[in-house]
Amino acid sequence: MSAKNVGRILYSCPFVPMEWIAAHGLHPARILPGEAGANTSPYSQGTCSFLAGILDEIERDGDFSGAVFTTVCDQMRRAPECLHRAKSDRSFLLNVPSTWKTDASRNLYISELQRLGRFLVRSGGASPTSEGLARVMLEYDEKRTSLLSLRDKLDPRRFTEALANFHGSGDVEIEAEYIGYKRSGTPIALLGGPLTRSALSLFEVISMAGGHVALDGTETGERTLPRPFLRDKLEEDPLQEMADAYFGHIPDTSRRPNDDLYGWIDREVEARAIQGVILVRHLWCDNWHGEVGRLREHLEVPLLEIDLGGAEPVVRNRTRVQAFMEILR
Ligand code: SF4
Repeated sequence: MSAKNVGRILYSCPFVPMEWIAAHGLHPARILPGEAGANTSPYSQGTCSFLAGILDEIERDGDFSGAVFTTVCDQMRRAPECLHRAKSDRSFLLNVPSTWKTDASRNLYISELQRLGRFLVRSGGASPTSEGLARVMLEYDEKRTSLLSLRDKLDPRRFTEALANFHGSGDVEIEAEYIGYKRSGTPIALLGGPLTRSALSLFEVISMAGGHVALDGTETGERTLPRPFLRDKLEEDPLQEMADAYFGHIPDTSRRPNDDLYGWIDREVEARAIQGVILVRHLWCDNWHGEVGRLREHLEVPLLEIDLGGAEPVVRNRTRVQAFMEILR
């Protein structure tokens, strides 16, 4: 294990607070897989293509101290069992209750964070003091605010990459030459599950067809950011405040009820004058597949659904995206 990578904690789900890992003195490293898992992946049986890609990356990665999965869907719930024994022993399953509007479910999430904390200590970390946790939360909150302030000044792909890099390393690194981008074309929203690095070329396909991604509502984008931390609550009880900002606010299909997801979409579609929505989902992702019909009925703008399974999914869907953009003009 190289010194640089000692203490890396891998995760992929937005309900794992990166501050909690960092406050334990470890390095949160959210995975953005290069590719969705191919049909040939040993993990393709019973997992969505995204999770197969995640498991492929974890098996290839020798330099991590722990891997955290969550219960947001059946595929992810079974993920630790899919890994080989040596890596499975270093994994942790965080129970994220589907119901989220009750004190009981919120308390359960907090007790799960505490259990995760014990896993992080076993993985080489140290329990944070309240002051230490609050300090890390403030630091990450400021980084998120600075990232969001650049949203409309960056090429949409670079903004999503900057978010992914922040989640993967905790750093905000944007070269000055990329700031000042002027967005043009039909404003489009991306919505849905997580992207992969290779799927980022979708931004260029949309741009070449006369649009721009004015809203990245995929799991990789800004939809899954926690709300900003409230300073008075943070000083009072940082763990409760962190739980509320993540568990109490991130809209997702996995939540019951998930009406807040629709409220979030409506607000953002109106605020950014979105003309069409492209729903991105991984092959075998039941969560987003099950939402497509309801979304199509709900939205007042057209929706195109594309899947990210198989080889070169963006290339395979290029003509569909082009045709969709044509009807919006
Ligand atoms: S993409 Fe869908 S099925 Fe795959 S891990 Fe995410 S929610 Fe689960």
